[in-house]
Amino acid sequence: MMIWAWRPNRHRRYRRPKWALALCTALVLLGGLGRGWWAGLMEPAEPQPALALALLGKTIVIDAGHGGFDPGAIGVNGVLEKDVNLAISQRVAALLRQVGANVVETRTSDTALADSKRADIYRRVEIAEENRAELFITIQANSIPQRQYRGAQVFFAAGSTEGQGLSESIQQSLVQVLQNTDRVAKSIENIYVVNKLAIPSIVVETGFLSNSAEEMLLADSRYQQLVAYAIFLGIVSYYSEQPVSGF
Ligand SMILES: [Zn+2]
Repeated sequence: MMIWAWRPNRHRRYRRPKWALALCTALVLLGGLGRGWWAGLMEPAEPQPALALALLGKTIVIDAGHGGFDPGAIGVNGVLEKDVNLAISQRVAALLRQVGANVVETRTSDTALADSKRADIYRRVEIAEENRAELFITIQANSIPQRQYRGAQVFFAAGSTEGQGLSESIQQSLVQVLQNTDRVAKSIENIYVVNKLAIPSIVVETGFLSNSAEEMLLADSRYQQLVAYAIFLGIVSYYSEQPVSGF
């Protein structure tokens, strides 16, 4: 469920990932899983040195949407978005830490960050600013009245080419890993967390809680790990295209 409106603001930096290389990175990582799909994902392959370097020391905010008094969307069978968001976020954070990223989680339990929804959202942005983060990734789940729609989808601020690159990288990974959606990354306007920050800031909608089958998947810990791994691979692919600096 989405957040709330704000005046858009454009990001300036521009480095476009090269898709062939990003795909190779994802395939190398997936190939390394060896024993297959579920089992491999529960115990990710040993990170490769070059990939570890790509994320070493990068400060990335992983924002589990909602929490505490704010459940977010409520699934048709009662699954709460805040719980799905937290479970997937914690798995993404753990994977990123394995390759040396400096991960900042906005929450690690079922709590809101402030007493009001507005203050809670402000606080999430402040956390990114205080930590001088390079990326802000909010993990959400969707809900709409039409129950047939499903599929994970990534959103970026209109006009942010870096946000677009990151979003497309993660979307491509979600499509390949989950094999249940052909959605494409889309720009979005008037969303506070993606428009307020000067860094690439994106929304990962992991699926639709309004679709009963997808709701059940999103509540399943193995599927949560799969989604997290897809998001992680997308981030790695994005960074593997960036020039290494600081060495
Ligand atoms: Zn939400």
